[in-house]
Amino acid sequence: MAGILVYALHYEGAFNKNSLGAVAEAARLAGQLGTEAHAIVVGEGVPEDLAAQLGGYGAAKVFTVEAPEGLAQPVVDAMAKVMTDHGHDYALFGGGLLGFEIGAGLAARLGAGVTMEVTNVRVEDGRLVAERPILGDSAISESRYKGRGIIIGRLNAFEVPASTGATAPVESVAVELSPWSTKARLVKRGEQRGADVDIESADVLVAGGRGLGKAEGFEMLQELADAFGGNSAVAATRAVVDAGWYPYAAQIGQTGKTVAPKLYLAAGISGAIQHKVGMQASENIVAINKDANAPIFEFADLGIVGDLNKIVPKLIEAVKARKGG
Ligand SMILES: Cc1cc2nc3c(=O)[nH]c(=O)nc-3n(C[C@H](O)[C@H](O)[C@H](O)COP(=O)(O)OP(=O)(O)OC[C@H]3O[C@@H](n4cnc5c(N)ncnc54)[C@H](O)[C@@H]3O)c2cc1C
Repeated sequence: MAGILVYALHYEGAFNKNSLGAVAEAARLAGQLGTEAHAIVVGEGVPEDLAAQLGGYGAAKVFTVEAPEGLAQPVVDAMAKVMTDHGHDYALFGGGLLGFEIGAGLAARLGAGVTMEVTNVRVEDGRLVAERPILGDSAISESRYKGRGIIIGRLNAFEVPASTGATAPVESVAVELSPWSTKARLVKRGEQRGADVDIESADVLVAGGRGLGKAEGFEMLQELADAFGGNSAVAATRAVVDAGWYPYAAQIGQTGKTVAPKLYLAAGISGAIQHKVGMQASENIVAINKDANAPIFEFADLGIVGDLNKIVPKLIEAVKARKGG
């Protein structure tokens, strides 16, 4: 057996960024293992030239499978067939909920080992070793695989290089779907409010937590982000995303996104470890919290103790005045 197979998710003619990172990572690892990285694209009428573009990220070959996209089960069928027919040792995913679902199904189907939320993969004695943070990211566990291994990255764990412009040969594979794989149908695909904002590349992030008190509190934060102008955006904690105050696309932390802006302004955020792991690499952290003992003050560069409802409007005024002047 040999080789690494990567699932590449596409939507409206473009590949998902995390999938491209996974293809590049697989190519790097395959080089060290002396084998090849392949990619698989599942969908209805996937254009051959789109699939071939994955060659620019290091895929030596791309398999395309005609099946419904956006659902896990058909992809499990497709990947299980390709891995069995071609003898891939590993499957690699860029992360995300769909990746978790496919990876778990594939592991069960192939009797393979599976590791999720992986932040680093290395080669040791000719085999892959996956590293995964555990215990609130305070320790790293390592997974080695006796047979096949399924590795699912944490979102943004794998860097996306610029495409070399190379194209890969594309092979269309006919897959017979399992009866249960055709039971579900994707009825609607929607984008959440804020999903268009590229949080990960923002220079200034104004993040809100439960201390905002209600969903409308985010309007004030948006105003502050707008006052900063340029490449600024609003982000959120899981507590407020779970409460439905703000879209998941803007969640920062262990189960959200990892960011490193020039300025991270946290309003009404306690600074739980699961939030901290997603923003601790920010260049400057400013925290507003009415509780002087809030954990966020332990790692903030500047702490403001007080009521955000009084401080944020003043900050908006000050930033606007500064920008205007
Ligand atoms: C497996 C797991 C994964 C998780 N993943 C994530 C993740 O990805 N991201 C994430 O954020 N969390 C995550 N969490 C949840 C995390 O543990 C915390 O519960 C969450 O981050 C708390 O959000 P918060 O700071 O908004 O709310 P709280 O902890 O309730 O903090 C609210 C803060 O606001 C302050 N405050 C209240 N009113 C005001 C006011 N008027 N002015 C100023 N300050 C005020 C309070 O003093 C308090 O410090 C995860 C938890 C688990 C178990």
